[in-house]
Amino acid sequence: MPSFQTTPGTRDILPPDAARWRSFVEEFDAVVSLAGFQHIVVPMFEDLGVFQRLGDATDVVTKEMYDFVDKGGRHVALRPEQTAGVCRSFAQHRPLPPWKVWYSGPNFRYERAQHGRYRQFDQVGVEALGSDDPLLDVEVIALAVEFFQNLGLRNVVLNINSLGDSGDRARYVEALSQYFQGHISELSPESVATLERNPLRVLDSKRESEQAVVAQAPSISGFLSDEAASHFAQVKQGLDALDIAYVVNERLVRGLDYYCRTTFEFQSTALESAQTAVGGGGRYDGLVEDLGGPATPGIGFAIGLDRTLLACDAEQVFPHPSTKADVFVIDTTGGMQALQLCQQFRTAGFASDRAYGGRAMKAQMKAADKSGATYAVIIGTDELSQGVATVKSMVDGQQEEILLDAVVQHVAAQLGKVNS
Ligand code: AMP
Repeated sequence: MPSFQTTPGTRDILPPDAARWRSFVEEFDAVVSLAGFQHIVVPMFEDLGVFQRLGDATDVVTKEMYDFVDKGGRHVALRPEQTAGVCRSFAQHRPLPPWKVWYSGPNFRYERAQHGRYRQFDQVGVEALGSDDPLLDVEVIALAVEFFQNLGLRNVVLNINSLGDSGDRARYVEALSQYFQGHISELSPESVATLERNPLRVLDSKRESEQAVVAQAPSISGFLSDEAASHFAQVKQGLDALDIAYVVNERLVRGLDYYCRTTFEFQSTALESAQTAVGGGGRYDGLVEDLGGPATPGIGFAIGLDRTLLACDAEQVFPHPSTKADVFVIDTTGGMQALQLCQQFRTAGFASDRAYGGRAMKAQMKAADKSGATYAVIIGTDELSQGVATVKSMVDGQQEEILLDAVVQHVAAQLGKVNS
């Protein structure tokens, strides 16, 4: 056993998985850039207060924060998500709205680590600040739908709900609290504790024994103001106009307290574990103001990389990008030829690789096979004395001798043919 291993809830993303992660982010960039979202990078740690605005009734804030006092005496925390940081950034820099930004990167939550749930996990996401137009909600949701489709996922279900405005939400929470208090004997001790802190979260209970009492609980729709109800109706109309399928799920409350009006979540039906939510988001019209900025509506979502890639595995889509070399140079004359030829191939834009340490022909041939290269360029003592190289197709085994000076041009032309 080595002395050190990754700590619980963290992982090394090894090759080739890390390349797949990068492609994932590139794909996301491509989708959201077309809708005018620009890249933003916010700090990985901020003043603890920034994240406390997520709500003091949420697990993320009360139990899962990685916070510490730094050497300058500042109480800071590693970000558990990026929306709060983006809103803090908006309040600080006051860009002209609408401000449409996207991000990617790690977040940190001290959670019980399990398959699909980690203490350091990556997300990609967007935030659109400065408009309460319900059709912006539709645009944002449509981007996530498009992204999942581009990955090749077919089994992602969109759940939507409206949590109303803060007044509606408060009245609903009150009614919910009363209802659950009246049925307290039917609740598990865990849900009784949750009820104290955040009655909405009792609706999230997955415990079989509580499903009946949860099903009978009052629904948010009965508490929506006219404005919030009309907003939600327009969101649904917009989704219909784009032919986006959705399920209205009045039990969808989401983990963070700041949501109002539209909330949504994407579930993968291809995932069997308890962790089927691949992404989610919603409106947070009061958050920028809470952070000291001007009253600014906002909406966004975050998609979990880890879990979405697990869904891709389950659906056998979005394969790892190819890491195959175009050319493998085999040099049994000391390695200088391989050094120069690889360099020339790379300058010409072709992926080239070689073996090191003056290994025997057989071992180098094996390495060439393993590299997945389309061509092997072989230089032995005979070839070198004649100023040629043997170019061997690794696809059909055919080989020919080419003047050393013309090898790069020759293989490049052949690869041009092969690739087209
Ligand atoms: P949230 O920020 O809690 O709304 O989560 C949005 C998405 O991030 C979820 O649907 C998950 O895909 C992902 N996610 C959240 N927490 C974790 C975690 N601890 N480990 C892995 N993925 C997570």
